[in-house]
Amino acid sequence: MTDEKYEKLPPFYGALKKFAKKKAALWSTPGHASGNGLKSCPAGKDFYEFFGHNLFYADVSSSVEELGSVLEHQGPPAEAERRAAEIFGADVTFFVLNGTSTANKVVFFATVAPGDLVLVGRNCHKSVMHAIIMNEAIPVYLTPKPCAYGLIGPVGFEQFSQKSIRAKIAASPLATNKKAAKVQLSVLTNSTYDGVIYNAEKVKSLLAGSARFLLFDEAWYAYAAFHPFYEHRYAMSLCFKRRGHYPPVFATQSTHKLLLAFSQCSMLHFRQGTGSEKLDLRGLVEANLMHASTSPFYPLFASLDVNAQIMKDSGYDLLNKALNAAVRFRSAIRRAGERYAKKGEWWFKAWQPERKRLELDPKDWRLKPGDKWTGMVISEEDDLILDPLKVTLLTPGVNADASMTDLGIPACVVKKYLQARGVIPEKTGFYNLLFLFAPGVSTERAAELLRILHDFKLEYADNAALSEWFPDIAAAYPGRYEKTGLADLCASMHAYLKQADIMRRSASLYSELPVQAVAPHKAYYGLSEGKTEYVRLADAPGRVSVFMVLPYPPGVPVIMPGERFPAADSPVMRFLRLNEEFDNLFPGFETEFHGVKKTWENGKTVYWVSVLNKTKKGKAA
Ligand SMILES: *Cc1c(COP(=O)(O)O)cnc(C)c1O
Repeated sequence: MTDEKYEKLPPFYGALKKFAKKKAALWSTPGHASGNGLKSCPAGKDFYEFFGHNLFYADVSSSVEELGSVLEHQGPPAEAERRAAEIFGADVTFFVLNGTSTANKVVFFATVAPGDLVLVGRNCHKSVMHAIIMNEAIPVYLTPKPCAYGLIGPVGFEQFSQKSIRAKIAASPLATNKKAAKVQLSVLTNSTYDGVIYNAEKVKSLLAGSARFLLFDEAWYAYAAFHPFYEHRYAMSLCFKRRGHYPPVFATQSTHKLLLAFSQCSMLHFRQGTGSEKLDLRGLVEANLMHASTSPFYPLFASLDVNAQIMKDSGYDLLNKALNAAVRFRSAIRRAGERYAKKGEWWFKAWQPERKRLELDPKDWRLKPGDKWTGMVISEEDDLILDPLKVTLLTPGVNADASMTDLGIPACVVKKYLQARGVIPEKTGFYNLLFLFAPGVSTERAAELLRILHDFKLEYADNAALSEWFPDIAAAYPGRYEKTGLADLCASMHAYLKQADIMRRSASLYSELPVQAVAPHKAYYGLSEGKTEYVRLADAPGRVSVFMVLPYPPGVPVIMPGERFPAADSPVMRFLRLNEEFDNLFPGFETEFHGVKKTWENGKTVYWVSVLNKTKKGKAA
């Protein structure tokens, strides 16, 4: 075997494979000693054989000198990261082995100090809120656009103007310097979960005067650099025409989410700005060390190295194939809809521009003012497109103005049926389901999904017995769903959601933001100080929340840590109470929550939330 063989492989993976093949005698951690230690007991032996010996030869400690240093960025790991930076268009790239959750925290630790203002979308990932707590930062929120279909809207471009940001800072009850012209860091989720993409170049120049550092959380969007469809619309893109002033920019990407890496693999990309503001890279190196284990799992690191190589060799082809598969699927959904419409029958609708033919031209995918299909109010200055790869299917039930139709098929029933058929959507709303056309999705799998959706329609038309498709739910709640068919269930659930006006209620969730009573970290410290208690949801108004309260759907926090639960008749509290009621009416189809404890009392589900104790004066917090 010649070394040449390994040199053709990407640098870290090549070096790791070469070392593993040598079967060296390791007198170091990990204690399994190339898997040998596992073989002496049945569970260990099974584990070893299941994963195969190569994995164990490749799981070595940082004491192997020829593999350089992951933590110090030396040798093959440094070479791998340098190449990835080149491939993804960054000045500097770090491979992060605990997901974008950690990559986001690294960015915060490298840029933010206690008391600093950070501008964050309320539709951000929870790791961003964790970073705010850890850094004792003061959040100033950008709000997502309300969407009639219950999708998580993007932030309107008017909120990126200096005027808007200064007004937000001035209005912040927590900002100590209300005249501050700049926030330290701005965090934007690009794309949104539902695949709405910002023109990142435009956002960068709009925010240049208002933020010292920019972070684009591209957890779902690591592929953008590899297809011209996404030009100008991702953090590391370089716009040559308008290379105006912009601040230092970070992108964090879950390489495992829509590229082909192992779970937990993430990349942090960084590019210095064009102005005088520069990041001291030593801070970034140190922040990364603070969040990394001193015992990195090398196969994960190799997986990132290999993914960079895959994207260099075949990124465009992979993307082009996935994009075409997604567009074909969308057309198939639309054509089936036209056929059913002729017979006066219902069908799913893909959430997308209403055009007869959609080409892979970004212009076709633009969210334009006045477009009904978006279910949102889009303004002239918004520069947003829909990513064809994120396919949202709308089920019948909602109009573009959030009013509700007579026929309704709640998406949670469709999801449950799909699960029974071995199909798992990414996300489910009240009347929508999201499917990701990742590069790993084959045409066959897309065709199969289409068949199963047609099957659902048949089962629904037959009013198939619930016990047939959801035996677990039927068994868990004896009597509740007896003699109930799929269509019956949809009808009664829809009737409830319709009388509750659920879609208008969820669209109004951000019409008035809850009051920030204390900074998020202060709310969190209440736990270690023993100053918190549980209260029933009904008793929450006026109290200060310890946690983020996050219902799925819609998947955006309605209360952030440190915010006061608003009055009982506010959109937020009404929405939360409706969820509690829904859980009681439709057991087995409960909504998922972060930040809510559910108990079972006298045959009913009760919601509890964590709040700070009242202070001596009797005032909450
Ligand atoms: C999933 C996700 C993260 C966290 O990524 P992990 O790789 O799972 O840690 C961060 N931000 C967004 C927007 C995400 O969706």
